[in-house]
Amino acid sequence: STRPGVQNVAVLGATGSIGTATAEVLAHLNRVDDRYRWRLWAASGHHNVKGLTDLARDAARFGGPPERLVFSDPTVQSSLRNLEGPLQATEQRWGPEELVGAASHPEVDVVVAAIVGRAGLESTLAAVESGKRVALANKETLVVAGGLVQERSRATGAQLLPVDSEHSAIWQCIADSPNRVRRLILTASGGPFRTATAAQMEAATPETALAHPTWQMGRKISIDSATMMNKALEIIEARWLFDLPADQIEVVVHPQSIIHSMVEFEDGSVLAQLSPPDMRLPIQYALTHPRRLPCEAPPLQRNRRWDLSLEPVDLERFPALDLGFQVARVGGTAGAVVNAANEVAVGLFLNDQIRFTDIVTVCRKIMENHTFEERPTLSTLLRLDRWAREEATECAAGVG
Ligand code: NAD
Ligand code: MG
Repeated sequence: STRPGVQNVAVLGATGSIGTATAEVLAHLNRVDDRYRWRLWAASGHHNVKGLTDLARDAARFGGPPERLVFSDPTVQSSLRNLEGPLQATEQRWGPEELVGAASHPEVDVVVAAIVGRAGLESTLAAVESGKRVALANKETLVVAGGLVQERSRATGAQLLPVDSEHSAIWQCIADSPNRVRRLILTASGGPFRTATAAQMEAATPETALAHPTWQMGRKISIDSATMMNKALEIIEARWLFDLPADQIEVVVHPQSIIHSMVEFEDGSVLAQLSPPDMRLPIQYALTHPRRLPCEAPPLQRNRRWDLSLEPVDLERFPALDLGFQVARVGGTAGAVVNAANEVAVGLFLNDQIRFTDIVTVCRKIMENHTFEERPTLSTLLRLDRWAREEATECAAGVG
């Protein structure tokens, strides 16, 4: 092709909801971008060998065959086959340390961090240590280790570019404004239980909790949206991404998921970013920033009525929010333990072992019982992560 540049992209978590949307964005950019060829240099999946291989086989759409496929679950080694056709020169590697290898490889320009949960921490941190541009979907990395990640990215010059739609919206609203931000206003859809009673929430099943009204997402984040723990994690994510204290962050419920978030400036003026709910837009913007190119996400239609409503959050039915503000306020080790407890509790709820409303109760208990440190090292955070998982499992056995 005659395009002057290449962007080598490592998509970690390529088989997931964000990962497959990212692949679509790369294929689209290869049709519309006249500046860069977007090459899927590396892609990872956990143990879905067929899923990742099938995705990569479409090599022509992804700027050429990938250099390597990474399977983070080492037990898949025995099910790997020789690759043929367009993938015959593609390397296959396995084991979690290969995520770090791909994230820090000198040929990689951009890392899309789309693994779910704490499992994304080491590779995201490796990308930051290597001074990469990091399109960050994996919010849990900032929840667990936000202080450390920001300190390291300042040292290495790495850029953290938000993929989460709320944070992308805030980033777009702030743009290069030299003006002081008074408040970030995160919008929340309210999830499937926005109008449910407390009794209905106690009786919630995995099936009802997974049925999100406006977004199609992975299972973990879908449950997080139902408890509004997702918004709690996003409060913490915003605190670190935009370096603002918790008391300058607010949450408002906006059921239509069209206003993706807002920024209030010193003079009271509020800017918002609007688009129909579709992750391809924030993913693409993280990749092409500061350029805006045509996007496959559908635009807002003007020939129909859109109702944009805002309502206050119900802190009684959604106690996760208060926990999120607390973690954002104290920082330190709090995020690591709350995140670990939440990952365990979500898993137990999905296995019918605890009630929906126990999820946040377990998280709060673990947070209150942990030995807080203000400036933890990575090894302290990892130790507390393991501790919190054990505690949460025990604590859940008590409530279940
Ligand atoms: P998903 O469950 O659909 O995909 C998760 C990906 O991570 C898969 O590729 C999976 O193979 C991989 N993975 C799972 N466990 C792993 C492990 N132990 N080690 C290595 N890789 C592992 O999740 P998703 O919905 O795509 O979410 C990914 C991240 O993006 C999450 O942090 C989520 O909060 C964030 N996010 C998602 C959305 C969305 O619309 N889905 C929106 C905003 C932010
Ligand atoms: Mg979000």
